[in-house]
This record gives sequence, C-alpha cells and structure tokens, in this order.
Amino acid sequence: MTAAFDAAALANRATSALRAYDPGHDLPALRIRFGAVLSELGSNENPLGPSPHATRAATRVLEDIWRYPDPVGASLKQRLSGELGIATRSITLGNGSHELLMLLAQCFADAEHPVVHSQYGFAVFPIAAAAAGAPAVAVPALPADHATAPYGHDLEAIAAAITPATRLVYLANPNNPTGTWFTDAELEQFLAKVPAETLVVVDEAYHEYVDAAGLSTALHLLGRFPNLIVTRTFSKAYGLAGLRIGYMLSHPTVAAVAERLRESFNVNGVALAAAEAALGDHEHRARVRDTNRRDRAWLADELTARGLRVLPSQTNFLLVDLGQDAAAFEAYLFEQGVIVRPMGGYGLPHTVRVSVGSRGELKRFLENLP
Ligand SMILES: *Cc1c(COP(=O)(O)O)cnc(C)c1O
Repeated sequence: MTAAFDAAALANRATSALRAYDPGHDLPALRIRFGAVLSELGSNENPLGPSPHATRAATRVLEDIWRYPDPVGASLKQRLSGELGIATRSITLGNGSHELLMLLAQCFADAEHPVVHSQYGFAVFPIAAAAAGAPAVAVPALPADHATAPYGHDLEAIAAAITPATRLVYLANPNNPTGTWFTDAELEQFLAKVPAETLVVVDEAYHEYVDAAGLSTALHLLGRFPNLIVTRTFSKAYGLAGLRIGYMLSHPTVAAVAERLRESFNVNGVALAAAEAALGDHEHRARVRDTNRRDRAWLADELTARGLRVLPSQTNFLLVDLGQDAAAFEAYLFEQGVIVRPMGGYGLPHTVRVSVGSRGELKRFLENLP
C-alpha cells in the first residue's frame, strides 16, 4: 500500500505558507438564480462601466487577437506619460496592479529582507511577502475610535517598525477595506524617516475617487524620493476590472529590475487598447467620480439614519461597522440577492464592505437590511 498522493507536501516553503484565494460566492450561479435583481456590492466594481471609447477600442482589437500584443505596451505608456508627466521608463504595466504588487516582493524581498504593512491593509500585501518567502510585519492599525482614520494606517508606528533590513513597505491610500486615507503631508513626513534602501509602495487603486482636503497623490514625491513606488489600476474608476490591467510608477531602475521578472506578454492587447482609450475620456472619468461622490454620501446618510456606523471613505465603497458579528447580517442579505463582502478574513468580523453600486442595487440593499 502506498500513501495517497498529495502534492501539498511537495510545495516549496513559500507556497506551503499560502492558502488559495477565496473567490467568495459563485457569482455566475447567483446571476442565474437572482437575475436582474442581484445586487453585486462585493467587489468595488464601477456601476457605470468603462468609457464607451474603451469598449469600442477593445472591440476593434478583437480582430488582431491571433497576434501577440506589444510586449512593452509602448503606446499606452506614451499616453500615461502625457497624462501624468512621468517618463515612460518609469512606467511598468501589469496584469492588474495585483500582479505588480506580487512582482515587487518577488524582485526585492526575501527571507532576510522583510516586508512591512498595516493591519487591515490590502490583503495582497502579506500574500506577496509570503510568495517571496519574506517575513511580513503587520503594524497595528489606528484605533477604531480614531477621529479621522479609524482602523487606518498608523504611519508613525509603521516608520518605527522599519529596520535596516526592511526592503519593502506596502501602504494603500486610500486603503481597502477600510476606505481610510492619509494626507500628502503625512506621507511626505513618513518618507523623510524611511531609509533610502527601503522601498515604499503606495497603492493608489482608488486615486481617481479622492477629493478630501490635503489628499491628492504620491506622484509629486517621486522626484524627491527615488525609493517611492506608486501603483494604480484600470479596474476601479476606469471600469475595466475584467481586462486585468494596472500600472506602476517608479524610479527607472526599479522599473528595470521589475522588467527582469515581468512576463513578456503580461498585458493583453485588448486591455492595452481599452486602457489607452479610457485614459483619454476625461468626461467619463469626471462623471464616474461625481456619481460616486454623490451616491457614497447618500448611502452613508441612509445607513447612518438607520443607526449603523459608517467609516469615512475616499473610495467607491463603505466599511459598515455593525459593532457585532456580521455573519448573520451578510447571510440574510445574501438570501435576498444582495452581495456584500464580510471582512472576517481581514480580522474585522464585525464589519461588511459595501460597494457604491448603482442606485437600484443600493436601494435593494437598503430595503433588505435585516
Ligand atoms: C482593487 C484593488 C487593487 C486592484 O487590483 P487589480 O489587480 O488592479 O484589479 C489594488 N489595490 C487595492 C487596494 C484594491 O482595492
């Protein structure tokens, strides 16, 4: 008798420490079960969808899918360079910004060079560290009753947790799942304390939604801090989550190192064309931002009026703090076809994250609250 074969025992040390991504609910099945009344408020997708220019550009490229895409995405980089005023050699494109966050850890972190991130920071950060075989240090977040950023990043504590061996720090601004943020001035003060050998990644996945006083972008600081890296995505405000495309802005030598490990055709041609067209549609972007701002405020008011605590948010979602375990709340909504994201996996089992979906979806959410 031989023992049952199990490849889990063969996984390398880094992979042994990981668990497979939890895909959550079976959405294709739920779309069939609930049809048009399904309210998908779990993944922070853009209810307005992409710019029509992006959809048209994507459709045109479908004729060329027998060819490999441009391996360097030169045309999109040119467009980004023009939009952002950043040299093309400082731009790296990714199959979603998720890929870039993973790539950075693979390139720079290892068992001797840890990663630092915040408690309640974006889930990919510790996974990226683990995949690279690097220790991940989770710095306690700001307290739940903090005036401006409950559960948010404690930049002073993060700075204090950095040692000469720390190679990477991951920050998300604004952060998912908390929705909280820190200001440009706070980031600048933080960067001034960080050793030049420690790379600081600022994940700006929700950048296009922000409008808080003192918050714009980390991009202005790239010239002064060569160890700063900014990641962005087309998945949220640009409404292209299904195409998987994001980008990273960094010192050219950081981009050059990432280029060693980047898969040559990591971004497909449909995504490249759609992203380029999406960038040019400033009107659509403004409509997305304004609609989100209006509906986020409306949703926050409606929830607050029902006695629920809503965290401040600069994103296209709200974290709702129920003050008690959220499992029954989430399960009840699920049975009504309203999908929200429980945050137990983040260590916030008393909260759910709710995307600012369409008005119809949000009304169904409010009408079906337990
Ligand atoms: C959604 C999200 C991303 C984007 O992921 P993609 O891989 O670009 O779709 C990155 N960071 C944060 C904090 C997010 O919430």
